[in-house]
Amino acid sequence: MDVPSTIIHVPPDDDEYRNITQQLQDTLRVDYRSYFAPTGGPGVPLVHRRTYPRELDRSVKFYPKMDSNTLQICISGGNNIKTDEYKTFEYDCYKSIFDMCEVIKELGNIPDKNVVSVSPYDLKFRHINISKPTTNDIIDTFENIKLMHNKEPFSGLFLHIVGHEPSYDGFYLRKTRYSKCIINLYYLKSVIEYFANCKFIVIIKDMCNAEEIDLLPTDFNDRPEDTCSLYVQYSSSRINGKSYASSNSRLFSNSIVTGFKAENCPISSFKDISSSNCYLCNSYRESIIHDPKISYNSLHESWVKPHMTELMPNGVNSCDLPILELRYVDNTNVWRIVI
Ligand SMILES: [Zn+2]
Repeated sequence: MDVPSTIIHVPPDDDEYRNITQQLQDTLRVDYRSYFAPTGGPGVPLVHRRTYPRELDRSVKFYPKMDSNTLQICISGGNNIKTDEYKTFEYDCYKSIFDMCEVIKELGNIPDKNVVSVSPYDLKFRHINISKPTTNDIIDTFENIKLMHNKEPFSGLFLHIVGHEPSYDGFYLRKTRYSKCIINLYYLKSVIEYFANCKFIVIIKDMCNAEEIDLLPTDFNDRPEDTCSLYVQYSSSRINGKSYASSNSRLFSNSIVTGFKAENCPISSFKDISSSNCYLCNSYRESIIHDPKISYNSLHESWVKPHMTELMPNGVNSCDLPILELRYVDNTNVWRIVI
């Protein structure tokens, strides 16, 4: 059986879209491109102060560090190509952020008041509940969050973003007759920079070409003494890779959700197997009996990646496989590993 509904990301190649992105930049009056230092190649971190990050030992495990003071941001995108093939895309993205949100909330004991949910359908955060949000609604909310964080800092940030590959640096949510609702990624990155000194930042990106977008903080100047942070950036695909649909969700996001629970096999609908007779599921469960704490490393290396690799005979290519980047940052150094 072929992997269904490969989402080919062909964003609208129109000047209007570019203009909106440009207008947004102008409105914000900040050159968010300054947050990006030149890259030395794919996957090289954008580090201002330190020239070369040190390589982290592969044996160092990163465990989820969420706690009840975590800010959790869930963003699902929309689809502007109205064909049957794309019909379920928006719903699948929405369902994926919902499922992930529930698992992460439980892992970190995160209260509802710390969850920001952005989708083509609504924008929710505390007293805010906006149906079909505009770009400005989203910016207003994030600006509010920055003020809140200045006043009373969150301990960390968990961001899950699912949708089409950004076009002209804009993540597409929705189009109305008069405007398009997009999130400028330079702006989103500038919001994430606000959390650079937090104990942890976790970013999960589920989209085509996901590796190319580096949303982790890159400005380490003026970092307080004795501050250390764990950064996790988990991308569904490598450069030029594709993302895939699963049953009523996105394959990569669903693989993470099922991995944290160690319950259902994420590829059962493709392989006609159940979790109890999947050798990958069984060996993973066997391994966590002895060490029930699931690290990002083991989630990636023993569950998500091998399950997706198992779909290569069905059409998944090596560039479509996920990539996990872990960084440890203190006030003098950056250590990094890419798995
Ligand atoms: Zn399995």
